Amino acid sequence: QNRVFSGAQPSGNMHLGNYLGAFRNWVKLQDSFECIYCVVDMHAITVWQDPADLVAQTREAAAAYIAAGVNPEKSILFNQSQVSGHAELAWIFNCVSRLGWLNRMTQFKDKAGKNRENASTGLYVYPNLMAADILLYQATHVPVGEDQKQHLELTRDIAQKFNNDFGVEMFPLTEPIIQEEGARIMSLRDGSAKMSKSDPSEYSRINLNDDADAIALKIRKAKTDPEPLPALAKDLEGRPEALNLVGIYAALTDRTRDSVCTEFEGQGFAEFKKALTDVAVSKLSPITGEMRRLIAAPDHIDAVLRQGAERASAIAAPILKDVKKAVGFIG
Ligand code: ATP
Ligand code: MG
Repeated sequence: QNRVFSGAQPSGNMHLGNYLGAFRNWVKLQDSFECIYCVVDMHAITVWQDPADLVAQTREAAAAYIAAGVNPEKSILFNQSQVSGHAELAWIFNCVSRLGWLNRMTQFKDKAGKNRENASTGLYVYPNLMAADILLYQATHVPVGEDQKQHLELTRDIAQKFNNDFGVEMFPLTEPIIQEEGARIMSLRDGSAKMSKSDPSEYSRINLNDDADAIALKIRKAKTDPEPLPALAKDLEGRPEALNLVGIYAALTDRTRDSVCTEFEGQGFAEFKKALTDVAVSKLSPITGEMRRLIAAPDHIDAVLRQGAERASAIAAPILKDVKKAVGFIG
């Protein structure tokens, strides 16, 4: 049986990278898989979130999923903290996962930064909770951006160790689904850093709730170089910011980078940025409009999340029961 699970953190500022690396795939997969899409609020609090903001951001994330094309009648859409099995299985995985494994996780190193002693312990065990999110539903496939590949490998290690330790065939070895184009959108200010919600610079990313003027301004200010576009994408080597803009154009139009380069060969980035702005605005403005419409009806969003949580709990309950029995918990 095939089942898809994925999620994003309601840490504010849903952006173009989330759309191109994740949401857009989620939508396509709805036709061929049973899909569970989660707003992972428990992950979000691994770094400080103001409680009132977290409420608004959680609704905004759900609105972004729906606006991008997730159909809550068909797929399951809910927020993580409403299904207690995530926390329960995460605890068991804290005891299966190894310190050595977590110590290799690059996201922790990036997010904890220099002041590691002051990072929350939640941020450290985040990958164990992510494994629990996925395996609570015995999900076989997880569509994510490239930055999550390492966490998916850890999920497989945890699944395998659990199965071995307890002598059961409980968990599948989950496969990531990573798109070719759009899997790693970089910051508009720095071609070596990924576009992130948590980047303090507003000019580093295009937010899904940016209007046309904001998109135009951010693309105009995006870092580039004075060289024109080459005929082939491989000739963009050593020009990470230029490559990123070409990659965004390719992902938004479902084309290859080579075909984009061929079309714009010899033109400078001032010209190319105008074309990119047009494409970005035409793709994103319907999503932005729909997000705003949905956010204006928070009761409706909350009801969708509640119903989704009930459906998710119904799938999780028998799996969690088997897990507890395998571990040796009475109940
Ligand atoms: P944060 O900075 O709070 O971690 P984020 O921007 O990394 O936020 P997440 O909620 O952690 O967003 O990730 C949600 C999904 O979006 C994941 O599947 C992740 O791989 C994908 N994603 C995040 N950033 C990018 C990006 N720059 N390019 C492509 N996919 C991305
Ligand atoms: Mg992230």
